[in-house]
Amino acid sequence: MNDIFSLADDLGPLKVIHVHEPGIGLQGVLVVDNVARGPSIGGVRMAQDVTTEECARLARAMTFKNAAADLPHGGGKSVLVGDPKMPREQKEVLIRGFSRALEEVEQYIFGPDMGTNEECMAWVKDEIGRAVGLPREFGGIPLDEIGATGYGVSHAVDVAQAFCDFDTASARFAIQGFGAVGKHAARFLCAAGAAPVAVSDSAGTVYNPDGLDLDNLIELKAAGRSVIEYSDAERLDGDAIIDIECEIWIPAARPDVINENNVNRLNAKLIVQGANIPITYAAEKTLHQRGILNIPDFIANAGGVICAAVEYQGAGEAAALSTIEEKLRRNTREVLETAQREQIMPRDAALAMARRRVEGAMSHRRWHIF
Ligand code: NAD
Repeated sequence: MNDIFSLADDLGPLKVIHVHEPGIGLQGVLVVDNVARGPSIGGVRMAQDVTTEECARLARAMTFKNAAADLPHGGGKSVLVGDPKMPREQKEVLIRGFSRALEEVEQYIFGPDMGTNEECMAWVKDEIGRAVGLPREFGGIPLDEIGATGYGVSHAVDVAQAFCDFDTASARFAIQGFGAVGKHAARFLCAAGAAPVAVSDSAGTVYNPDGLDLDNLIELKAAGRSVIEYSDAERLDGDAIIDIECEIWIPAARPDVINENNVNRLNAKLIVQGANIPITYAAEKTLHQRGILNIPDFIANAGGVICAAVEYQGAGEAAALSTIEEKLRRNTREVLETAQREQIMPRDAALAMARRRVEGAMSHRRWHIF
């Protein structure tokens, strides 16, 4: 594991806190990366193999994502060691214990992440009163149910189409991963007139160049089945989604799915990253050289965290959707205009924009730690 000092730079991390309570088998880490823009928001990840280094990297990603989304929040993240599928009672003890141990760190607002959900956030809220991603009973906005991230993705597409030579209303799209992000992105794109020609999930890909029926696909998933059970389409293996000819290609599943070995197979005009880090940096460079427009993850998939920030301010679903629309459109446009003007990759333009916003906030603080 890297020594934590080797991860430190001019932005952070501000605080790294190790929590250990052997009596209940509790072991976790909180990294508050940077709070110059406001208290940090970031999820609690529960898994057996989490590390301090992973936590620090995820916290930095949240610093950039929240700044790029222009939220009044810094970046933080926490990790809890354990099997997320452990018995509910045991998990509740760990989550309550972890939040209680971090009660005084007001610079960190808990949110859900891999291995935790809105019920876990309800326990945190009950213990210390500071969590987002809450159930409706606590005034939460169920972001996966309303499709917050997919909604943002569809606005990123709409802004980006002006930088490509196609019209969303007659565009074909393919989506890798038909879960909370992919399904809702598809729904909003269909509403804009685009046609899904291929979708995949962990079981494989279905493809029909004349278009797939979205309601049918959504019904299959709601019934706990796979998209490959869709009847009026060719069934292909999971990897085949990469080769589909279309205007818009959306990764909405796993990290690093597009890399140097397969990037040249992509046959699209626009990539909008619904998933986190689905494309390696080297593959993004290749896309740039090939003239394929590529909207980076922390710009395109910020809908979820924007929704959480709106919830934290006490506003409702309508406010969340209009804020996502406004921020996603403005930030996508700014990133693409800068990338075009400076002839750089959208990711580099986005990183520079996020860093500028963090440093701008830091310049107004005496010390950004208070
Ligand atoms: P999810 O679990 O609801 O859906 C994931 C989907 O991907 C499932 O349909 C699954 O079958 C499919 N899948 C898994 N492995 C696959 C593979 N190898 N090939 C094709 N499909 C595969 O998850 P989600 O919430 O939709 O999140 C998807 C991605 O988006 C993750 O990277 C997540 O970190 C990121 N993300 C999610 C949100 C959010 O609001 N949910 C916000 C930002 C980023």
